[in-house]
Amino acid sequence: MDVVNDIIAWKRDGNELDAGRISFFVNGVVDGSIAVYQASALLMAMVLRGLSDAESLALARAMVASGKTLDLSVIGRPVLDKHSSGGVGDKVTLVLAPLVAACGGVFGKMSGRGLGHTGGTLDKLESIPGFKVQLSQGDFLRQLERIGVAVVSQSERIVPADKILYALRDVTATVDERGLIAASIMAKKVASGTSAVVLDLKVGSGAFMRTLDQARDLARLCVAIGEAFERRVRCVFTAMDAPLGRAVGNRLEVEEAWRVLTGDGPADVREVVLTLAGLLLSLSDLGVTEEEGRARAEAALADGRAAEWFDRWCVVQGGRWKPGEFHRLAAGEVRAETDGYVARVDALDVGRAAQLAGAGRQRADEAVDPAAGVVLAKVVGEPVERGQVIATVFARDAIRRRAAQRRLAQAIGVVGDQPPPAPVVLGRLSSVGDDELAGGVASHDAEESEGTGLRPTASRSRGGREARR
Ligand code: URA
Repeated sequence: MDVVNDIIAWKRDGNELDAGRISFFVNGVVDGSIAVYQASALLMAMVLRGLSDAESLALARAMVASGKTLDLSVIGRPVLDKHSSGGVGDKVTLVLAPLVAACGGVFGKMSGRGLGHTGGTLDKLESIPGFKVQLSQGDFLRQLERIGVAVVSQSERIVPADKILYALRDVTATVDERGLIAASIMAKKVASGTSAVVLDLKVGSGAFMRTLDQARDLARLCVAIGEAFERRVRCVFTAMDAPLGRAVGNRLEVEEAWRVLTGDGPADVREVVLTLAGLLLSLSDLGVTEEEGRARAEAALADGRAAEWFDRWCVVQGGRWKPGEFHRLAAGEVRAETDGYVARVDALDVGRAAQLAGAGRQRADEAVDPAAGVVLAKVVGEPVERGQVIATVFARDAIRRRAAQRRLAQAIGVVGDQPPPAPVVLGRLSSVGDDELAGGVASHDAEESEGTGLRPTASRSRGGREARR
């Protein structure tokens, strides 16, 4: 009897897989005893039939058990972590990591590279000359003890099952299943040893999750899986219809992150950073509420401590950088064809334009151009006059530049009436009852704060602080 075939048929026919069958599958994928075509068939059955919460938790457990687990208890304090589900112009970690450390927290993160239209923190950090993202486990721990912040590349030995399964999902149209996504994210968070994690779940045209309901569903499952491993998990939902901030591309985003670190920069980036910082600091051992944590973070951005900590972090990880010294590539512009207001800057199209310019990769093994990308002169809600520059592409050669310019032009819509401001922080989820892991459903009303842990928050500004100066 072929056990794998039976497991595939069991799931294909709509039955629930028990923990034993799920571990058998994960172990077989890692040791190569299950063929790639069988793993692909089971993944497709999982996507078509969906995974229950119990199946998702069993998958997360089997994935954690597939590799090593880091023990961060030597630090003697909670190690805080943040994970973004992937967006365009998302430079939040570059600001948040040193900011949390400057406020007395310990921030340790294993991060990934960009793929497709979304960017990755490692590529952004590596655009700083000399910045090393590969640290030994000992150096990672020593750095956390010394300066309270370290961001490194994901170790090959942590959750090896995810590396194989994610690569397979990526090429077999089996990424978008909430249980597969939650197990993949949470297994890595649990195995990397951090005590508390805030998930920044992006919602909109440039994100995995197009609707808030999808994001809430994923959030509840991630919180429940975290609870099962005694990790504290909080989720924040943030808008990703338009890029975050004005810069998209590795070095361009470092420069923008620096502006936020020095108390300036776009208001939407700042708002996401402060929301996450308040939450993370409240999850540490500092005895502060979320509001107090946010106030501490605001003070550290204003008085230069956050920027100082960023500099220290760069030096310790080998980075050599001075603000304003980056070389700009040749520019191509997109100009307004009519007078009006910017109503749409589509995150997916801008992400693709930056990718075409050289800032992103099509395949995981490709190199990125650290200096390539897009800068938005105008963002949603801002007035433009015919002929004015709305966005600029930076690329190393004319072919890339023109292709990116064409894509960027598709991203932007100008209308006669000013669109209303839209919030960047759409809601949050702080806790989930045990009944929800078993399949209960909480309210989807964003106005509710009791029970669901969801509440509405600040607006996405039209232009940000820079535009108001
Ligand atoms: N991010 C992950 O780490 N895994 C997924 O499956 C999706 C997004």
